[in-house]
Amino acid sequence: MRNYFIAGNWKMHKTRAEAAELAQALVAQLKDGKHKYLVAPSFTALETVGKIVAGTNIMLGAQNMAAEEQGAHTGEVSVLQLKDLGVQAVILGHSERRHLYKEDDALINKKVRLALKHGLEVILCIGELLEEREAGKAEAVCETQTVKGLEGVTTEELKRVTIAYEPVWAIGTGKTATPEDADAIHAFVRKVIGKLYGEAAAQSICIQYGGSVKPENAAQLMAKPNIDGALVGGAALKAETFVPIAKFA
Ligand code: PGA
Repeated sequence: MRNYFIAGNWKMHKTRAEAAELAQALVAQLKDGKHKYLVAPSFTALETVGKIVAGTNIMLGAQNMAAEEQGAHTGEVSVLQLKDLGVQAVILGHSERRHLYKEDDALINKKVRLALKHGLEVILCIGELLEEREAGKAEAVCETQTVKGLEGVTTEELKRVTIAYEPVWAIGTGKTATPEDADAIHAFVRKVIGKLYGEAAAQSICIQYGGSVKPENAAQLMAKPNIDGALVGGAALKAETFVPIAKFA
């Protein structure tokens, strides 16, 4: 009943020309793709990529967003500005935002609610650090980030939320969680959603896995019952690696 959702997070890569080239390749090669797709370029390439993916089966996503609608926030980009560019979804709470830029659950929650209020879809990223996993705290960390990230979000709004489980130790490291380990956390997060929103919401929410997803491991991960897609970083930067992930089946 859940649709697979494969998203590419291009992080701080690509000029407009490079982004356009990749977007054009993806539009051509994914036009017969069966799943839900999204690309999230840098702010600077959103307009360029937006024009290329408009009207295709690839959604336009942003990698972050300010917690305020507008105002004196030097260097920030608002939800209104993103919508003006045709952005349909935003990645929030990515571990690089949490750990390099010190975003906490309260700030992430403010962004989540603002994005949903303005009709965007949200990919809410959660995931534990290596030391948290080794200390047996992976579930507790994921529960806290999920509960706090979704505070004040209604059942109706939750339909526009995807959770991305990205164990921090697996991001950009080449180390993937085993499909079994990932699926166990996904099942746990689904239970957390069930406690918050009920069983129907738990069964319908999309939970992506992220962290060194590659063409070689995508199908095994997607075969797990609770893994509904992927948030892809490094392998999303080239059509030759993103397309096989996007078409894993
Ligand atoms: P990775 O990044 O695929 O390069 O590990 C995933 C992410 O950070 O979303």
